[in-house]
Amino acid sequence: MEIRKIHDKEFKLFIPNSQIRAVISAMADSMNRDLEGRDVIFMGILNGAFMFAAELIKHIAPSCQITFLKLASYAGTSSTGTVKRLIGINEDIHNKTVVILEDIVDTGITLENIIRQLRGYEPGEIRVATLLHKPDAYQKDIVLDYVGLEIPNDFVVGFGLDYKGFGRNLPDIYRVVAS
Ligand code: 5GP
Repeated sequence: MEIRKIHDKEFKLFIPNSQIRAVISAMADSMNRDLEGRDVIFMGILNGAFMFAAELIKHIAPSCQITFLKLASYAGTSSTGTVKRLIGINEDIHNKTVVILEDIVDTGITLENIIRQLRGYEPGEIRVATLLHKPDAYQKDIVLDYVGLEIPNDFVVGFGLDYKGFGRNLPDIYRVVAS
């Protein structure tokens, strides 16, 4: 079994690249059926979603836009904790179909924050696509319109996802080996 060491942790192969690509291709097929005729803008959330977005967009048939957003590290606090400001919205998304592209939805706190901020730009609708989802950790009731794979509540790296800044370049996804 293939093992990778990143910093102090060991990771073992979990989802091979061929499976990831098949899952993304199937997701794109669903989107192509659903989004035909709509004014669509895909919004990839950096850094983690860059590989997912690049792979997905190759399979999207209707004319569309794609852009990338980032959550700035700090913008203040609320009763629910740190509120990160969404930066990079340069396009007019008014009345458009926004499809958020996330690498992984864990508790859903990040996603809720992103949606709250995007609503301020008055898009026509917001849909959510995530490559990975940890249902056991999910605390929100936001509908995830497109989910690539549901995974257990373990830390994963690869295909855009990092551990302490490393591992994003790995073509496969690895899960942490319990120590
Ligand atoms: P949430 O707000 O849903 O709890 O977490 C979302 C963010 O946490 C993701 O966008 C990602 O940056 C990070 N995250 C959650 N689980 C994992 C994981 O297993 N591996 C990595 N690399 N990041 C994760």
